[in-house]
Amino acid sequence: MERLQKLMASAGIASRRKSEEIIEEGRVKVNGKVVTELGVKVDPQKDTIEVDGKGIEREKLVYILLNKPKGYITTVNDPRNRHTVMDLISRVKESVHPVGRLDRDTEGLLLLTNDGDLTYALTHPSHEVDKTYLATVKGVPNQGTLAALERGIELKDGWTAPAEAKLVADLEDESIVSLVIHEGRKHQVKRMWKAVGHEVKELKRNTFGPLDLEKVPTGRYRYLNEVEVEELK
Ligand code: URA
Repeated sequence: MERLQKLMASAGIASRRKSEEIIEEGRVKVNGKVVTELGVKVDPQKDTIEVDGKGIEREKLVYILLNKPKGYITTVNDPRNRHTVMDLISRVKESVHPVGRLDRDTEGLLLLTNDGDLTYALTHPSHEVDKTYLATVKGVPNQGTLAALERGIELKDGWTAPAEAKLVADLEDESIVSLVIHEGRKHQVKRMWKAVGHEVKELKRNTFGPLDLEKVPTGRYRYLNEVEVEELK
């Protein structure tokens, strides 16, 4: 959802300020009804918007695969003015939003889109896709620990679903491990490793469903093609 005046501005009707005036003058209809108050939110794909009786074209749907660096928060707006993932895609004109979230200090694959239906489907607990997280953790997990993570462990918000856990490299006092989960609870991967005694020092998401980070350097992004979008659905 997006503010009406912002959508008008990005559709090239007028500046945001001028669009507010146009709204207050009663010249804008949303789904056939005149709207004069400011701050009304609209869905750029679903709502029909007319200015002086002329329809605004709907945005085309875009799907962006970003390799998020550390230090950026996964939100569209930050009231505290920190760096957000939107700073990394400032050339994208469509009103995209992140699908799920990565912590500020987590890097890796983040999908952004203006397709609300796909976002809903991909983040709905019954329908979540597999995600692979590579982590550097303190210590070296043994087979029993990996098996416990795979079966499911109890966190404060309930048991985790079956997962895939592997030791990738034993670095003596720390290790590189991978975890594939299909849930998406807040800080889930960090909490899972911590619960079995291995605090996460670095975290990176390498895959999201059928997508991986191949050929997308940190801080860069690319658009998905139609085949990739179909695979996600
Ligand atoms: N799990 C976490 O703990 N952090 C993330 O950013 C993503 C998954």
